[in-house]
Amino acid sequence: MTRALALLDRCLFIESCRQCRKFISTSTTHEAQTLCSSCWLTLTQIKPLVEYCSLYPNIPILVASAAPYEGIIKQLIHRLKYNNDRLVSCDLSILLLKSLNLLEREFDITESTLIPIPLSFWREFKRGYNQAELLAKWVARHSKLPVQNKLLKRKKHTKAQHTLTRFQRISNLAGAFSVVPQKKQINRVILVDDVFTSGATLAEAARAIKNFGIDNIAAITVAQAILK
Ligand SMILES: [Zn+2]
Repeated sequence: MTRALALLDRCLFIESCRQCRKFISTSTTHEAQTLCSSCWLTLTQIKPLVEYCSLYPNIPILVASAAPYEGIIKQLIHRLKYNNDRLVSCDLSILLLKSLNLLEREFDITESTLIPIPLSFWREFKRGYNQAELLAKWVARHSKLPVQNKLLKRKKHTKAQHTLTRFQRISNLAGAFSVVPQKKQINRVILVDDVFTSGATLAEAARAIKNFGIDNIAAITVAQAILK
């Protein structure tokens, strides 16, 4: 009976690789939960990227990303945002932790607070969660850095950025964020998002935080789009 239940449990909850569809063996242990060991190995071998987001020249933000926004990474992020596949966030978070390790080489992360980029109320309501918050909370648990998801607030519902041109992205987000004062003082901020594309979101969030009086701001993202 116990063996039958164990088998049923295995059949019901077994995961298949989101990339190649092979069953993920429970007998072998590797870090990822949604990719098989060979697809995961491909991801871990990708060279991370560090770039300055200088959309507002007086607020340059150092952004570390684990990989270019393409291939498997792009598909996984898409699954997390549009297919309600939350388990993917665990694997993307491992990559995000890699971004944090990279950032640490050039930005003092001591006493930094992780701030996920907020969604508008309606987008979060529709999706059921904020993917940046899922990622930030996982990284907080594994890096021992605090996460604060109430400091930054999205004031207005904006159009989805991926449908817009670079110029439209900037104007679409102008004044989109505000800062809600918190009891605990924050001196250093690491913004967390899934993708760094034009930089409009990170720049606008950083502008709101800087106007609030916090000068030390950097960012980590899972992926970075290479704009042609
Ligand atoms: Zn695979």
